[in-house]
Amino acid sequence: MTVSVQEAIQFLKDKNVVAVPSETVFGLAASIFYPDAIKKIFEIKGRPPKNPLIVHFASVEQALEYVDIAPAFVPNLQKFWPGPLTVVAPLKKEIDPLITANLPTLAVRVPNHPVFLELIRAVGPLAAPSANRSGFPSATRKWHVDFDYNGMVPVVEGMEPDHGLESTILIQKEGYFLIGRLGATPIENLNDFFKIVENTQDFMAPQCPGQMYRHYAPTCKLTTVLSDEIEAIVGFCDVNYPVDKPLYSVGSIHHPAQVAHHLFETLRLLDHDRIKLAYVDTNFPSAGLYLTIHERLSRAIQETYHQNRELYV
Ligand code: AMP
Ligand code: MG
Repeated sequence: MTVSVQEAIQFLKDKNVVAVPSETVFGLAASIFYPDAIKKIFEIKGRPPKNPLIVHFASVEQALEYVDIAPAFVPNLQKFWPGPLTVVAPLKKEIDPLITANLPTLAVRVPNHPVFLELIRAVGPLAAPSANRSGFPSATRKWHVDFDYNGMVPVVEGMEPDHGLESTILIQKEGYFLIGRLGATPIENLNDFFKIVENTQDFMAPQCPGQMYRHYAPTCKLTTVLSDEIEAIVGFCDVNYPVDKPLYSVGSIHHPAQVAHHLFETLRLLDHDRIKLAYVDTNFPSAGLYLTIHERLSRAIQETYHQNRELYV
């Protein structure tokens, strides 16, 4: 069900949830002022209550009312907001503990989408996790939300997500930041502005509570082994594959932003077409956005990831 911005504002004021497009992926939004509405987010998604939500604001100033961000980093934050960067910082204002999973910190972001911003300006800060059912690929098209909830969740009209990947999460520590989650803003772009201490060399290491759970996986089994048993190939339009099966293209291997934009749509099309076993080509570079894409695929694929991957140096 599609609703106008005005209808969505009324839904939110009536303590309901709406699916809202952002520049990253669709979110499932509710007003932070209504605990009943926040509870609905967890129920509808099937989200574990230990997995806290990101709160979205209309401006840097509004976000700073809720969290303590070290003043030295505030001007740099202005360079990335609005945009696909989330910062986890100490909470300084009372907020529904369901949002933070009782943690003393809050994840905050200013999204770069006119519809999302209009809702926040009308209703106040909105808590919004990704709109997918917990564990499944994020929703990057309107039909993904309708598919996940049988059309029962209202989707606000507006431009569909451009990036196709969730925000990058930085966790503020004393004078430095840890990577909470790789995302649509490559770490390389952030290094000059935030003192980021690499958690470890392993890109699977980023730890937010949410990273503990099954993530991004379609029902279709994904494999990195190219065999005659596979029914489809998830790969690039400009790579030749030696097995004659239908190609579910994520775009050109030379355009990581295009691949990101198509990634979850492609994984969801496998389920839509009732494919049971698909090969995923993971032979692509590991820098920039591609590192995030590797992380998402490694979680989506239900077998040892590195084993069948030729590592690019
Ligand atoms: P999503 O459901 O895709 O919006 O994911 C939000 C992510 O933010 C999850 O991985 C959460 O665990 C993470 N997150 C939210 N709040 C916090 C917090 N206070 N500390 C650490 N991670 C957080
Ligand atoms: Mg999510």
